[in-house]
Amino acid sequence: MQSISPEIIFRGNDAWEKALPQITKITKNPLILGRSVSTNNLRDKILRDLNNQNISAKSANLQFDCCYEDISRINKIILTNNHDAVIAAGGGKVLDSGKHIAESLNIPCITVPLSASTCAGWTALSNIYTKHGQFIKDVALRSCPKILVYDHKFIQTAPSRTLASGIADALAKWYESSITSATVDDGLVQQAIQISRVLRDQLLIDGKKAFMDEFENNSSWRNTIEACGLTAGLVGGIGGERCRTAAAHAIHNAITQIISPNKFMHGEIVGVGLLLQLKLEEMKNNNKLADQSIKQLLALMNELNLPTTISQLGIDVFENQNLDKIADFTCRDKSEIHFLPFEISKKDIVELITNFEKQKIKI
Ligand SMILES: [Zn+2]
Repeated sequence: MQSISPEIIFRGNDAWEKALPQITKITKNPLILGRSVSTNNLRDKILRDLNNQNISAKSANLQFDCCYEDISRINKIILTNNHDAVIAAGGGKVLDSGKHIAESLNIPCITVPLSASTCAGWTALSNIYTKHGQFIKDVALRSCPKILVYDHKFIQTAPSRTLASGIADALAKWYESSITSATVDDGLVQQAIQISRVLRDQLLIDGKKAFMDEFENNSSWRNTIEACGLTAGLVGGIGGERCRTAAAHAIHNAITQIISPNKFMHGEIVGVGLLLQLKLEEMKNNNKLADQSIKQLLALMNELNLPTTISQLGIDVFENQNLDKIADFTCRDKSEIHFLPFEISKKDIVELITNFEKQKIKI
């Protein structure tokens, strides 16, 4: 069984208004789930609009991350108040929590992404972290959300940093899926990989303009936010698990194990992981195209103010055995790094990151 997409998708400038009648058909008492103080206004509007439709919605916020502590606390709130749906309105962590909670309680989830930082509004997947933000595991859900509301007016209010992060995460789709699944003899998977290539091209063409000019009548911005929030999700839906992740995400997951005072976004870390994956392909698989891809990506990442080394993520890999910890987690048994079509050892990762961080590698 495969859940490819949300049941109903509303997109565009008035997506929320258009979605309201559909939402009121499936819920009379939803819980609106959020996290960031900066999006309180939007969630207040969502609450007001629902109340005006005689829907008795309530709000709750995550305290930490998409973590078991928050999930069980919100579960209890829903059971106590007999909420009949979750409206997850926020970034990836909020969307992932909302989907996970709704599925475990067998109630519908409505996702309302408030930035273009991720495709979590689309997918049947939740990433679980500790309350300190350390990656634990991916949980495959039975289905994508019931309704996805991709309201451009809401997304316009997000800081441009979220857009850059979403671009880096969506770019990774092509580089990860094409190396892990090129030999998979399944037409649907092959077509998903091709969509991720078109998605990458779109981001290379439109990403910078979308980031610099932002919104209004900017078709680059519209194309880019929809690429990050919708198309990236579609690739995961059609292609399944092996179209999603490889070394870039494996390295992301490992980097989150190091608790640092500066919080970085998912896509910002994945972007660094992506550069490391390409270096790994060059080092272990003699991939001559990897260097060109690195140059192309670096040019865009610099324009988007994205970090391009682990030290720019506020982590010194040469301190506190950080390098060992990252290499151990990257190479653990369950790691996505093993989807690569060549063997990777801890020694490879230590050598890769040492050279990368010392910038002995010409990039
Ligand atoms: Zn990702």
